[in-house]
Amino acid sequence: HEVLSNAAGLIAQRVAAITDGGVRLTAQDITSLGGQAVIGAPVDDGQDAAADDAMIADAATHEAMIERILMQIDGFGDTMRNAHAEAGDFGRDLARSAALIRDAGPAVTSEQIGRLTDDMIERVQRAEARLDAARRETDELRVALDEARGSARTDPLTDLPNRRAFDEAFAALDRSKVITVAICDIDHFKRVNDNFGHAVGDRVIRSVAKTLRAECRCLVARYGGEEFALLFEGVTLEEAARQVEHARHAMTLRRLRVRETGEPIGVVSFSAGVAEGTASEGRAALMARADAALYRAKDQGRAQTITAP
Ligand code: GH3
Ligand code: MG
Ligand code: MG
Repeated sequence: HEVLSNAAGLIAQRVAAITDGGVRLTAQDITSLGGQAVIGAPVDDGQDAAADDAMIADAATHEAMIERILMQIDGFGDTMRNAHAEAGDFGRDLARSAALIRDAGPAVTSEQIGRLTDDMIERVQRAEARLDAARRETDELRVALDEARGSARTDPLTDLPNRRAFDEAFAALDRSKVITVAICDIDHFKRVNDNFGHAVGDRVIRSVAKTLRAECRCLVARYGGEEFALLFEGVTLEEAARQVEHARHAMTLRRLRVRETGEPIGVVSFSAGVAEGTASEGRAALMARADAALYRAKDQGRAQTITAP
C-alpha cells in the first residue's frame, strides 16, 4: 500500500531496489522495512514451489521484452532518418557534380572526373553500410516481436497456451477433419478461494493445469479463470474422454496442502464436457455443445466427464 500510494517515497525506493529485475519481496524484507506482512498461505502439492516466483519473473521478462522492442524501434527510426538525410545530400551532390561536368564541357579533366567518381563511390559504400545496419536491426526486431507474440499466447500463471492460442489453433484446423474438444472446469473453486485465499487458488489452478498436460495428449489451454479447453486431433470421442478421465482420476490422488501450515485442502475435482465434430461446424457451436455437456456434469453432481450426443 505504501509503495503504491507514495510511489516517490523512501519505502517505494527501497522496495524498488530490493525487487530490481523481478526479485520477489519476502515477508522478511517487508518487516525489515518496518511494514507488516499479510500474505495468503500458499499451497504445497509437493511440487513447483518456485512457480510463483517464476510468474513474477515472467511479468518482468515481458515488460523488459517490450522495453527492448521499443528501444530497437527507436534505433531503427534513427538509422532510417540518417540514411534518408544522407540519400538526399547524395542526390543533391550528384546533380551538382553532373552540372559541373556539363558546364566544363571539353575542358573537364580525367583527374576531376576521377575525384568526383571516387567521392561518389565512397558515398555509395557508406549508404550500403547504413542499409546493412538497418537490415540487421529489422532482423533483430523480427526476432523480438516473435518472442513477444509467443508470450502473448501463453498464460503466465500456468504456462499453458491461452484462449487466444486455442482459438487460433482451432481456426488453423483442416475444416473437414474430425476433432474433439473438452472443457474442464474446477468444482466449487470459489470455496478454495474463500477458505484459503486467492494465492492458494492460483496454485490449485496450476496443479490442475499440470495434471491435464501430463495426462492428455492434446492441446491443453487455459480458457478462463478456472476453466481449461482441450483440443484433440486424430482420436475418437471415447479416447478423448478416457484421457480426460485419467486426468480427473490423477487429481483425486493428489493430496493438496497449504504449503506453510500443512493444512489439507481436500481433493480438488473438476467436471468436464466433451464434444466431437468437425472444424467446419465452427468453434462457437462445438464449444457450446461441450459446454452443455459440462453443465450436465455439474448438474449431475460434479467430478465427472460427460460426452455430448
Ligand atoms: P462450480 O463447481 O459450479 O464450477 O463452482 P465454482 O465455485 O468453481 O464456480 P464459479 O464459476 O462460480 O467460480 C469460479 C471462481 O473462480 C470465481 C473466481 O473468483 C475464481 N477465479 C477465476 N479466475 C481465478 C484465478 O485466476 N485465480 C483464482 N485464485 N481464482 C480465480
Ligand atoms: Mg467456471
Ligand atoms: Mg468452477
